[in-house]
Amino acid sequence: MNIILEAKNIHKSYANHKALDDVSISVPRGCVFGLLGPNGAGKTTLIRNINQIIAPDSGEIWFDGERLQPRHIEQIGYLPEERGLYKKMKVGEQAMYLAQLKGLSQKQALEKLKTWFLKFGIENWWDKKVEELSKGMAQKVQFIVTILHNPKLLIFDEPFSGFDPVNVELLKAEMMNLRDKGTTIIFSTHNMGSVEEVCDEIALINKSQVVLNGNVKEIQRQYRNYSYSLTYESTNEINLQPLLPQGFSVLESHPNGHGFFTAKIQTPEGSKINNLLTEITKHVDVTGIQEILPSMNNIFIQTVTK
Ligand code: ADP
Repeated sequence: MNIILEAKNIHKSYANHKALDDVSISVPRGCVFGLLGPNGAGKTTLIRNINQIIAPDSGEIWFDGERLQPRHIEQIGYLPEERGLYKKMKVGEQAMYLAQLKGLSQKQALEKLKTWFLKFGIENWWDKKVEELSKGMAQKVQFIVTILHNPKLLIFDEPFSGFDPVNVELLKAEMMNLRDKGTTIIFSTHNMGSVEEVCDEIALINKSQVVLNGNVKEIQRQYRNYSYSLTYESTNEINLQPLLPQGFSVLESHPNGHGFFTAKIQTPEGSKINNLLTEITKHVDVTGIQEILPSMNNIFIQTVTK
């Protein structure tokens, strides 16, 4: 696998607290990588290590095949959780300044900023003062400035906090777009709500340690509980339980409109779904069946409370 960033056995202590205890993560190139965990788990500390704001006490970080060093900073875009823009400056002026700090020429900065402001529907903010913006508005501007110079790796610390649902969707869509164009994205969140939707890979940090990591689909499969959603067509709802092979049970059943019904069926671990279908199709017109994989939120709760 092509790895863009690897942190190996990172330890970091503050005065009387071990914030990272032998943390290792491996981030494949071109994925969205979720750094998950409750508040205080150590996510920001790891992000600050990767951004070279603070050094780990021990451990190694590798970026794009090399030991991490100061010159890599320009290839990493970072949106910190505490977002600071100069309040008295105008939005456009400040965005131009920050874009040029990242190596863009004045012409490039202006062109790119105008395109992004238009895309985000904020072109009329250009001459506003930063202090006139809400938290979410300021965050939009900082998001643009963070991604503007096309860094190979983007790191967002709690990017959705402070955004309303519409803007959360906008941000998610942009993250996916950037990923599809080849950028690798690491983002931290304590909110497991949209992990399946956004992340390809995750590391779950709890109490300073990685307690779960890997590909989201593989993790969901590893925690599968062998339940399925079965849809059938019928003039009325059928009691499926007596029709099922031994060991199978109906957990839920409800109409789905226009003569369709859905039942949630629990199968014995390791059983073949074909056995279920062979029996049930003798009696009902099955129109679909899909495995119900556990949500990352459930997996998170199971892992953290274990
Ligand atoms: P997260 O981002 O997962 O919420 P952090 O990395 O911010 O977690 O914090 C991990 C732990 O380290 C917390 O207990 C926090 O209070 C502590 N911590 C973070 N920064 C400092 C600091 N500069 N000095 C002392 N303790 C800190």
